[in-house]
Order: sequence, then structure tokens, then C-alpha cells
Amino acid sequence: MLWSITKVNGSGLYWLDEVHKEFYVQMFEGNLFTNCFPDEFIDVLIDSINTDVYFTAVYDFYKKLTIEEQIRYRAIFEQQINFRTLFNDTTRSIIQADTPTLKKILEASRKLGGYLYSTTLDLQCFKGAMTKKIGAQLILSNMNEHFQSFKTTNGNVCCFCGLEYMIAEKLVEVDSGAAVEVKPQQRASYDHFLPKKDYPFLAVNFDNLIPCCGTCNEKFKKAKDPLLEKENRKLAFEPFTNEVANLEVNYENADGDFYKIRVSIPNTNCDVEYKSQSWNRIFETIGRANHTLEHNFKEEWISYLLSSFDNLQEAKAKLKEVGNNLSVRVRKSREAYFKSLCYLYLSNMDDETMTPLLRAVSDSFAQRVGKI
Ligand SMILES: [Zn+2]
Repeated sequence: MLWSITKVNGSGLYWLDEVHKEFYVQMFEGNLFTNCFPDEFIDVLIDSINTDVYFTAVYDFYKKLTIEEQIRYRAIFEQQINFRTLFNDTTRSIIQADTPTLKKILEASRKLGGYLYSTTLDLQCFKGAMTKKIGAQLILSNMNEHFQSFKTTNGNVCCFCGLEYMIAEKLVEVDSGAAVEVKPQQRASYDHFLPKKDYPFLAVNFDNLIPCCGTCNEKFKKAKDPLLEKENRKLAFEPFTNEVANLEVNYENADGDFYKIRVSIPNTNCDVEYKSQSWNRIFETIGRANHTLEHNFKEEWISYLLSSFDNLQEAKAKLKEVGNNLSVRVRKSREAYFKSLCYLYLSNMDDETMTPLLRAVSDSFAQRVGKI
């Protein structure tokens, strides 16, 4: 990510993850199906037919596994719910389903997790169960409230790309089996940082759910796994920590007044470089940012900023001032991260490089306002 983000505190929605995980633990302990849930959640199983169907499918399948398969399946579960240990240690391989039967039960877990996330979280009957469980302290009990709270804390710009705003745009259909009629909800894009397809036990774990822009989620991330690239283990940023990408700016000044500014990940051979590469492999932010720089930097951003300056030192002071102002607005204003990065870089350039740049800016602006 480009900046650190903070998890929203105290949302009642987090209870579904507890129910989900506890179901598996109780099932592994050999408990009867109905004893795998807290009392308050039984109403959800009664009111939401599909929620019950998906839990039951996993439970029934598990009973048919051999002892060896049960052990392996539980190991996959335990590794996934302790997923935080995987980001910093590539010697730990990801445990995979290695038999057709295990693949099938993981598919059942995938369907369960997918349904809990897409539907159960928004159901009225789940809200009723949360109210029973949590009582007067219940807060942020639907996805929209959770998203609004995330934005209040973290700003409204996507932390994966810095180029787009996060907006609530996806229509989520609710369970037809719900006893209480509920309308489909507008939902923001939440990225399952470790994809729910491969990590179904994390499907409603909000330590793994990060609000982001629709472009990052649907166009670039899809189901890519930050921890694996073609079966090779990779380091990756751990969500909700202070880990952020390390980028540098390069400025090319060639062929007279032609100039080009680009961002990249510097070669440092440190973990942060490898984690930045994983982030870029998933979201392709470097390419997207350079595309924006290519199209907007000279014509739109800097030509307006520096058009009235012909004194180098004054131009640099302006770049520094605006760069610093933007650096505190990266979470609030799209593209501010990259503008700030580039302006501050240019403000430190030597005069020899800066002179033709300022001349090019002046020419570019003059063309735009029709002076030449
Ligand atoms: Zn984004």
C-alpha cells in the first residue's frame, strides 16, 4: 500500500468471523452441527436457508473425510486463520488441498465463505442476532456504516493506487431465503487481500478486508494472491500495519526540451522492495501512475503550477510548498500522492536540469492558452 491504514474499531460485523471460525473449531472437535454455533446465531440458520445449507454442506462433507484428510484440512484452516505469519516468512509454504476430496471440501468452504461475505453480512436476521449477542454496544452493524467509518479514519482515496476514490458502487443481492424482506444494498469494493477463493476461512475476516477503489478490486487485483506468484512464495505487505511501498522518481531530460517523469520501485534488496513488488504485481500501480504522469504531468499539473515563474529558485520554492501541502492530503485527494512525490523531487533538482524544464513548461502553457 501507499500509506498505512487503520482498521475500524468495534464493528458488530466482526462477530460473523468469530462464528465462522468457531464453527470449524467445534466441528473439528466432533460436536453436533447445532452445537457448533452460539445460541444467538441459530436464528440466522433458521431464517436464512442458504446460510444453513452452506454450513451444512461443509459439516456433512467433513464427516466423510478420512482421518488423514481431516488432519490436513484442519492444518489448512489453522494456517489460514493465522495468516499474519505468512507475510514476512517465505520459508513457510502455503498448505494446499492435495487430494480430489480435499479440493471438494475446500470448494464447499469457499461457497460458505463467499455466501457469508456477499449476503449473510447484510441480512436482517444477522442484524437481529448481532443485537441479541452484543446488545446496546452494537455499532457499525452494516457494511455501509462500516465503509463510512473506514473513510472517516482513512480518507476516501484508495490506499493501493492513490489514483482513485473509493465509492459505494456494487449492488449486492440479498438471500432469497431471508425471512425478513431486505433491499439489495449498495456496497463499496472491499478487497480480500488474501483472495477468498484460495483462503476461504478468511472470507469474513476484516483483518483481511480492505476497502479500495473499484478499478483496483475488479480490474487489477481480481483473485491474485500476494503471497504466491506461479507457486513461488513471495513477501507481501501485511494489512493494517505501518508497511508502505517505497518508490522513487526518475526524471529524464533528453532531446532538447523533451522531459519525462516516472516513478519506480528502487532496487534495495530489502524486504520492502520485495513487498513493494508484490503490491505492484497485484495492483499494477506503477504502470497506472506512469500512464497518468505521461498524460497529465506536463500538460495539466506542472504547466499550471509553474506557468508564472521564470525564476528557478522561486519555481523550486513553489514546487516544495505545493509538494509538502499535497503530502498531507494523499488520503483525501486522488493523485496527490504522486503529485507530491514528483513535485518534491523536482524541487531538489539542480539548476542545469531545471532550466530546460521550466522553459518547456512555459512553452507548453503558452500553447495551451493560445499565446503561440
Ligand atoms: Zn485503487
